[in-house]
Amino acid sequence: MKEIILIKTGEIALKGLNKSSFEDVLVKNTKWRLHRLGPFRFRKAQSTIYCEPQSDEIDLEEACRQVSHVFGIAAFSRARVAEKSFADICQQTLDFLSEDLEYAQTFKVEAKRADKSFPMKSPEICRELGARILQRYPHLKVDVEHPDVLVMVEVRETAAYIHGKQLPGAGGIPIGTSGKAALLISGGIDSPVAGYMMAKRGLELCGVHFVSPPYTGERARQKVIALMEKMAEYCGRMDLYVVPFTRIQEEIRDKCPEELFTIVMRRFMMRIASQVAQRQDCGALITGESVGQVASQTVKAIACTDAVAALPVFRPVIGMDKREIIGIAQQIDTFETSILPYEDCCTVFTPKHPRTRPRLDLVEAAEQALEIDKLIAEAVEGIELVKIKR
Ligand code: ATP
Ligand code: MG
Repeated sequence: MKEIILIKTGEIALKGLNKSSFEDVLVKNTKWRLHRLGPFRFRKAQSTIYCEPQSDEIDLEEACRQVSHVFGIAAFSRARVAEKSFADICQQTLDFLSEDLEYAQTFKVEAKRADKSFPMKSPEICRELGARILQRYPHLKVDVEHPDVLVMVEVRETAAYIHGKQLPGAGGIPIGTSGKAALLISGGIDSPVAGYMMAKRGLELCGVHFVSPPYTGERARQKVIALMEKMAEYCGRMDLYVVPFTRIQEEIRDKCPEELFTIVMRRFMMRIASQVAQRQDCGALITGESVGQVASQTVKAIACTDAVAALPVFRPVIGMDKREIIGIAQQIDTFETSILPYEDCCTVFTPKHPRTRPRLDLVEAAEQALEIDKLIAEAVEGIELVKIKR
């Protein structure tokens, strides 16, 4: 009684990309996610990836849960493998779906015959298998519109596969197929969501987090690590670069006009993140900014921070309401961690009346008071690398 996971890659995602290399990356990512559960074999054919456990000990329930988090998968199903004979197809169907069929009121059989040498055509498989199911479960009725149980039979080259309704995959495109980007991650709600959204578009991530001890504590740093561990469920392997930011913030506090503190600080974040990103071969930065949310996220303020970014800055939540962002945070399970009440360096020394429409020339003039390159070099020197576990 062999079971496997059938993975459908979906056609839309394949359009602009080289199909085969896309699938290779998808297989690699899925392999990485499943390797802890035991050995699997992967095979590709006809927009389907066959993921076959190589041991009976493997927890397929957990494997399906893992598969449901892999970007690039449109849908998947856990399927029973049958011999390519109608008798075995019947027997395996009645065995594999017995519980579902017993408690259902209605059902429908769908068949696909990729192997045209199989002697029965699809409608015949449906009719005959339907009759066998009704024989065994006379309480059932056929409902082709909204069946409680869908019985799918796929007759393919090497075997027949029986499964129920397909489950939705995580969508998107495989991580790595769009390159790499550095996520500026705070302990807040928005940046983990922003990272998740860009990983879904095929970007591999690394994190950059600024800390200001003793104004921010160890628990705030641990919170960011915990957030990235949650994100890893979807985003895969990630490194986090923790940047010491205290000295820079103190310098800005001491030498710049108070109302420009936030914007100058954010420009330092962008400059440093750009350096880290370039060293790690990243092609872009990602932030969790959303227009109008706070003083530093007005259009003018964003223009001032962008002016010092050495790479394109992606802000996937820019047009979203907090409520929508929270919805995604709950779905990916980062929300509860994000709302733990620890200080972020952004909330240290914040002015009472920050400039909401900063002028770039005045910001640049204010920065003249600072030894920018030296401060950045010191901060970069002190970066700590944290490998995110999952
Ligand atoms: P978030 O919920 O992501 O913290 P926010 O609404 O609190 O966002 P800000 O605190 O203004 O907004 O931060 C805007 C963005 O700047 C964040 O989404 C994040 O990308 C980046 N950022 C803020 N603080 C830090 C930090 N300590 N380290 C790295 N990036 C940060
Ligand atoms: Mg924040």
